[in-house]
Amino acid sequence: MTLKAGVVGWPIAQSKSPRIHGYWIKQHRLDATYEPIALSEDEFETGIRDLISEGFKGLNVTIPHKEAAFRLADKLSDRAQAIGAVNTLVFREDHIFGDNTDGIGFSANIKAKYPSWKGGNAPAAVFGAGGAARGIVWALLEIGYNEVRVFNRTVSRSIELASSFGDRVHAISGSLDEICKDADFFVNTTSVGMNGKGSIDVDLMHLKPDAIVSDIVYSPLETDLLRRARLSNFRTVDGLGMLLHQAVPGFEAWFDTKPVVTDELRQLVLS
Ligand code: NAP
Repeated sequence: MTLKAGVVGWPIAQSKSPRIHGYWIKQHRLDATYEPIALSEDEFETGIRDLISEGFKGLNVTIPHKEAAFRLADKLSDRAQAIGAVNTLVFREDHIFGDNTDGIGFSANIKAKYPSWKGGNAPAAVFGAGGAARGIVWALLEIGYNEVRVFNRTVSRSIELASSFGDRVHAISGSLDEICKDADFFVNTTSVGMNGKGSIDVDLMHLKPDAIVSDIVYSPLETDLLRRARLSNFRTVDGLGMLLHQAVPGFEAWFDTKPVVTDELRQLVLS
């Protein structure tokens, strides 16, 4: 019987997930499908129940449904519980399991380029406090950072994020320069720089000279932030790999096959 999975969002046409999973299905010659499914917020819960009745194995969940998926799941992974959102649903025999793979996708991407990367020697600096930032803060704590500083345009949101992660995470209301002081990691988790729009007002020279600068925006692949970081001789990591690595656990859970992120897949998603 054909195994079925997909991605739900509203809108969904822009999603790159069908291309990623379609590549792996073909590569592993699986009798499986992965389709984009448009569900509005009103339709979300009944739509999911219908897909379960149709025999779907599970789904990726994207904007605006990650919090609704968190509420819908009967059981949650520890990381989904900590992050407060779900991007991967697995339909098990007697319950819906919710996971969040953004954080592990993020750290797998950094480690793919810099395998010895670990936290603990200096603070990490995070710009943004939205859904993606929550996954990344979780990942930075997991990797061993003792101090994660968060700056967001809307300060109340960074305060709320910091308070939900405990005393290793600090909301800083001053400026981006302030969170960068002597940090060895800086990441943009906001949409600033997407499609070349907007510029991040930060002086990267406040970072430690061996710092890694990362951007989770991947269109363009080299954002203005990453270009400035490269020209200042910082190590840089683009956001495309996070998108690819976050897809691995869902594919493995639904299709019982662990896929690998390759350069060929990167090129396919970019093309
Ligand atoms: P979200 O929950 O809506 O959060 C958006 C964040 O961007 C908030 O911190 C928001 O600040 C900030 N922001 C938006 N416009 C801004 C501006 N003009 N100036 C300063 N800050 C601004 O969205 P999200 O899910 O976290 O996604 C954020 C970005 O990450 C998107 O571009 C998304 O495509 C990308 N992303 C990439 C991956 C990947 O795999 N590479 C995964 C997830 C998300 P306020 O709170 O002040 O509004």
